[in-house]
Amino acid sequence: MFIPIKKHLLLILIFLLCSASSHAKINVFACEPEWASLVQILAGDQVDIFSATTALQDPHHIQARPSLIAKARRADLLICTGAELEAGWLPLLLRKSANGNILPGQTGHFMASEHVLLLEKPKLLDRSQGDVHADGNPHIHLDPHRIMRIAEALSRTLSRVDPDNQAYYQNNWSSFKESWSQAIAKWEQLGQSLRGKQIVVNHNSWVYLEDWLKLERVATLEPKPGIAPSSTHLAQVLAELKDNQADMILYASYQNDKAVRWLEQKTHIPVVTLPFTVSTDETLFEWYESIIKQLLDSK
Ligand SMILES: [Zn+2]
Repeated sequence: MFIPIKKHLLLILIFLLCSASSHAKINVFACEPEWASLVQILAGDQVDIFSATTALQDPHHIQARPSLIAKARRADLLICTGAELEAGWLPLLLRKSANGNILPGQTGHFMASEHVLLLEKPKLLDRSQGDVHADGNPHIHLDPHRIMRIAEALSRTLSRVDPDNQAYYQNNWSSFKESWSQAIAKWEQLGQSLRGKQIVVNHNSWVYLEDWLKLERVATLEPKPGIAPSSTHLAQVLAELKDNQADMILYASYQNDKAVRWLEQKTHIPVVTLPFTVSTDETLFEWYESIIKQLLDSK
């Protein structure tokens, strides 16, 4: 009498274990926090997400250290910006992690920049012009319309990587589409008063934000992308600003602010320090809110 019941329980236990393992979470390796946040929104509790960088790091330059390699080795899905943003470290990371799931051409290899049009694609590639990206400017996460297109492509990729949860991912995409559209409309409404504002930037990181909110860039402190400003170049910028005062100096909180502070002292143009991406415990929505708010507050 007892034996069949035990057998029965054992079968239930085996069934539960099997179903639990077949619904194991998808391991996601994100190169930047904005993509970690987007995956979180689209995939909720079906994924375990790791972000290789934080808002306080420069995504152009990090080390492919062993802890990152170990994370990449276990990933089912890799999501990065692409367009050479991670050219200094991602190829090495992929080689060392030797994970066939996330190599170029595989379903688990997702490059956000491949799903949108890039600005500033050089007509002629000349590396002597600094850290120029052949595919165009990679800082695409500062345009919410591009984020929308990337989210749609990403939700399709999630369904391919984890077909059992296709309905769930589609559902999340639909609700994101609706709430993100509403948020964009609100931000664009608020951002109207920023149109035509003249800005000075440190690195050319804000192209997509400028394009979206119609800000006008009048000077860049780096003479070439990735090259620190020389005193000659700064003197030239200062001279130009004497004739044409800008409304604000924009720089990302992870960047060196030496040149920015120098210019602030000389010109008294207000400095706006923006978080370049989503901080820990913050959503994509909250980050955009904070950027718009800081830009409006600086007026
Ligand atoms: Zn850059």
